[in-house]
Amino acid sequence: MKQTCKDPHCPLHNSLKTHGRQFKGTVTEAKAQKTATVEWQRLHYIPKYERYEQRKTRVKAHNPECVDAQKGDIVIVKECRPLSKTKHFVVAEKTGKDVTFLAREHLLQQAHVTETKVKPEQSSERHKEDQHESN
Ligand SMILES: [Zn+2]
Repeated sequence: MKQTCKDPHCPLHNSLKTHGRQFKGTVTEAKAQKTATVEWQRLHYIPKYERYEQRKTRVKAHNPECVDAQKGDIVIVKECRPLSKTKHFVVAEKTGKDVTFLAREHLLQQAHVTETKVKPEQSSERHKEDQHESN
């Protein structure tokens, strides 16, 4: 972690105060400038079945330049004053990598690649069948 940064919304180097709740979650997207989408799971009780259901909470959090969290990082987010219409959390620190999340992303990407490769083969097979029928 850098010693200084120019980010005005950095809780460590600048005057942004955090207050309220704090959560640990996984960064699912970090494409937007200085904004990360952070997700974590929570349990929601269903009285009828006397069981819990897993639900996800997803928030936009400010991603200061000194933290620079990437997709798949496990981070601690802290509640702060609203920084924009949808941002009222700030990424305070990175604590590690979410291996399961990264593995799932990797598999999804692989599946996508093979899917696009398979398509032309299928169409050529269909073409052969068509020829056979016409003969
Ligand atoms: Zn900073």
